[in-house]
Amino acid sequence: MSRKFSCNPKTIKDAINANLLPILTVSGVTGGVVLGVILRYSRDGPWSKREVMYVGYIGELFLRALKALIIPLIVSSLVSAIGSLDLSLSKKIGLRAVAYYMTTTVLAVVLGIILVVSIHPGKGSDEGITKAGEARSVYTPDLLMDLPRNLFPPNLIQACFETYKTVIVEPKIDENDTLPPKSEWDIGSDHSRALNIMGLVSFATVLGLALSTLGAKGKPLLSFFQSLSDASMVITSWLIWISPIGILFLVASMMIEMEDFSVMLGQLGLYFGTVVLGIFIHGFLVLPALYTIFTRKLPFRFLANMTQAYITAFATASSSGTLPVTFQCLEEKNKIDPRVTRFVIPIGATINMDGTALYEAVAAIFIAQVRGMALTIGQVVAISITATAAAIGAAGIPQAGLVTMVMVLDVVGLPAEDMTLIIAVDWLLDRFRTMINVLGDSIGAGLVYELSKKELEQMNINANGDVERPSNEIAMDTVESSKM
Ligand code: ASP
Repeated sequence: MSRKFSCNPKTIKDAINANLLPILTVSGVTGGVVLGVILRYSRDGPWSKREVMYVGYIGELFLRALKALIIPLIVSSLVSAIGSLDLSLSKKIGLRAVAYYMTTTVLAVVLGIILVVSIHPGKGSDEGITKAGEARSVYTPDLLMDLPRNLFPPNLIQACFETYKTVIVEPKIDENDTLPPKSEWDIGSDHSRALNIMGLVSFATVLGLALSTLGAKGKPLLSFFQSLSDASMVITSWLIWISPIGILFLVASMMIEMEDFSVMLGQLGLYFGTVVLGIFIHGFLVLPALYTIFTRKLPFRFLANMTQAYITAFATASSSGTLPVTFQCLEEKNKIDPRVTRFVIPIGATINMDGTALYEAVAAIFIAQVRGMALTIGQVVAISITATAAAIGAAGIPQAGLVTMVMVLDVVGLPAEDMTLIIAVDWLLDRFRTMINVLGDSIGAGLVYELSKKELEQMNINANGDVERPSNEIAMDTVESSKM
């Protein structure tokens, strides 16, 4: 029997009620674009930085509120998820997640390389490309070695707001002396004012493991983190209802601030198009195909249910900032078991960045093309390996990929300053790649959940053979009962 479309006002009202949040979010984006364009063209001269800040102020408040949830959410969800899992079973779930992260990151890099080599966006001249900004000058080993350093933060409180970075200090010399080679410069340490998410993830994982081995003695601390995790999810569900307004003002300020589109794309249009094409093929063809192959389910509903997360990722350019929304969409709309999401998503948001990996590979080869440098197969392989490492090392914050790009350039002997060739469009590309980073983590959670159902059921059967209530039902109740 075919279902007839009914114009019954009650049916329409029900449909609107059921989809109120996505409708409001899309209206937020559209409203932001319209407001931004009207303000931008309402006067002749450009808007000052201060004026743009005023327009984006409400969006900034929303972003700050989202960011406030990152630490409680990541730490509590990881500790409670790992602490309450049966280790032998959770090992399998963890291995599946890691296999997914590695496979999809490598696929993204390979796709990026195929596209940039065949489209060849770098014409072999940097004429007309505006260079801007400054690059950090360090060695690739410094950047690589900073990753494990940040994995083991010596001070957890400091890890909540600072990330370690190595610096090499240029010696002071007299006018007539020659500067010693860089390898002779002093090696110093510095900190950037960014949350060391890797350090917190590693500590929370180890604490969760310790609690799971402690049994009854670990219960009080485990209950504390479980309760904190549920409370953070409740706050998230409140915040999400404010997100359309925050997104509206973030998008409006972006529209006012951005450089003239035609100028920007005229210089770097083909490069921009190559990255965006790759990102969309990977996010909307490759990843959904993997999901379908492994789960035997069509991905459309799953993807549609994540819309709120993509839009937040685009508006904030931060996958860590989007984390609360990602959790919410996965658990509430896609009904993914929180034992999987709270385990897979914090780690994924930190190390699994397919959009960034693809972009790093395309950008490095594009710069080599602009410089007229012919790359050997060995150099292309080296680019793919470092692009993977650079994506793992990039934090889930705006334009973090641009910073870790230094090591990809270094591996083929290009100067770090060359990344300034692509800076003009990076802020916009960043939003697209963040969207795909979030999408990749979400599909990963969905896939791992489908493949781990047997283990999860096994965990539900307690030692007495009783069937416990799955924790997602309990978590869902908490969120439902807290809705405004
Ligand atoms: N902004 C990206 C993210 O948060 C990272 C990057 O590619 O710069 O996922």
